[in-house]
Amino acid sequence: MSYKLFIPGPIAVSEKTLRAMTQSMIGHRSTDFVALYQSIQPDLQTVFGTKDPVYLSTSSAWGVMEGSLRNLTKKKVLCCMNGAFSDKWLDVAQRCGFSAGSLKSEWGQPVDPEALRQELATGAYDVVTLIHNETSCGCMSDIVAISAVLREFPDVISVVDTVSSLSAMPIKKDELGIDVLLTGSQKAFALPPGLAMISVSQRALERAKTVTGRGYYFDFVEFQKNHEAGMTPSTPTIPHIYALKSKLEDFKAEGLENRYARHARLNKKVQDWAFAKGFKLFPKEGYGSVTLNCFANTLNVDLSALNKGLKKHGFVIDGGYGKLKGLTFRISNMGDETDETIAALLKALDAVLGELGVK
Ligand SMILES: *Cc1c(COP(=O)(O)O)cnc(C)c1O
Repeated sequence: MSYKLFIPGPIAVSEKTLRAMTQSMIGHRSTDFVALYQSIQPDLQTVFGTKDPVYLSTSSAWGVMEGSLRNLTKKKVLCCMNGAFSDKWLDVAQRCGFSAGSLKSEWGQPVDPEALRQELATGAYDVVTLIHNETSCGCMSDIVAISAVLREFPDVISVVDTVSSLSAMPIKKDELGIDVLLTGSQKAFALPPGLAMISVSQRALERAKTVTGRGYYFDFVEFQKNHEAGMTPSTPTIPHIYALKSKLEDFKAEGLENRYARHARLNKKVQDWAFAKGFKLFPKEGYGSVTLNCFANTLNVDLSALNKGLKKHGFVIDGGYGKLKGLTFRISNMGDETDETIAALLKALDAVLGELGVK
């Protein structure tokens, strides 16, 4: 049996998207490919809020997250940390052999713009990493306030992960002054895993040109050179690019503003349901993610029994990430969810919780 995923990634993929992936292969140096690649750039740039190119990387997000460090770091990277993915980015920087500092908050607490300002004012850093939406604990930092701080430090290149938020709310790269904005395919974009998208500013590209040891596979300079010819450095995952084209058409048909509003509405619907049951949001009030809800398991529900029961209804939610396993549960509302699909999930949750003795 197959289940519909309400875990925050990978998420459910539509039939239309899956069908798009089954089109015939084309040569990645062919004029057909160039036409495909170039045809999706304008819509991608709209979603990213940028005039810069959006490179396509055949990797999951971690490929370009590690790659960004290798392209940009000469002195020291500062990693803003408030959950599992941002904590990991520091680990990755250290594994790459970079000098790395951390700006730590508790999981579920947003990145503090003022603390960031103070840390960057030391002058020790030339790169900063930020996870906008910490999927692990459902915490969304204030990208507008943080970007304002980052703009005060033009010599520090900003790398912002929007894996679980881009396309679900407005994030305007150029207006915010973000240097590198990246996302993956299997979360907010509702594509299967395996593709990453990354937009790199001119300033970041200039920095990369002066950095040695960039390697090949994730080299920004290679991406740019190939982009200018309408191609990717190596053979890309062409099925994902078909899927991406199809998905960008979906975005357009719905309208981005409507898409943003739908995410906000469904997110609140799940929240209202949980609050009525007596659950509380795990992240700090006002910093809950718009694409998922991470609830504290305040009613001490047996979460593995809950998921077992839910599976009988054909659904799966998440029982907590890493050290939050059992203590929190996460419900995604990203991608193609509708009032109807969320209502169906909540109805099933009601039934299963009832069986477990929660009213
Ligand atoms: C899932 C996720 C990642 C990692 O993505 P992979 O596809 O596993 O490389 C990074 N950042 C955030 C915010 C995520 O949610």
